[in-house]
Amino acid sequence: MLVPEEYIVEEIEIDERELERDPSGVHLRYNHTEPSVISDGVDFIAVIDQGDDEYRIDYWGYAFGRMYITSEGVQELGQRLDYEEDEIPSWTLDPETVDANDPPWWLPDDTAIDPTVACEHCEETVSVREVVTPRQPPVGMDGTVFCRDCWE
Ligand SMILES: [Zn+2]
Repeated sequence: MLVPEEYIVEEIEIDERELERDPSGVHLRYNHTEPSVISDGVDFIAVIDQGDDEYRIDYWGYAFGRMYITSEGVQELGQRLDYEEDEIPSWTLDPETVDANDPPWWLPDDTAIDPTVACEHCEETVSVREVVTPRQPPVGMDGTVFCRDCWE
């Protein structure tokens, strides 16, 4: 369940082909950084403001669907973006879908629109959306966070 039942106004039966590949709204993405783990949940959510305190969300991944939720529901979704500065978040915003000068009200305070982190091998600063956090560091490399160049 993406949001608690009480925040769902309506759930729509929809064919996967009816979902647009690039919907409008603010996009949230699951951040796959652990290469040995296979994700089996939802890994994309588009939040589309409908006005009148109602939001449409289109989501997909292992499961897919469309629903209309209340502003409490969208606030609950926003909690996925609540994380400490030095941790690699498991959900991130697509910065191209957010106006950094006027971020959506439902983001937790201090949510970084496009957070970065330093690779622990080459020390290059990269987007948290472009790192790998393997359970076991590659042979001969110390650390827990690697940019994709070092990982490959
Ligand atoms: Zn690196």
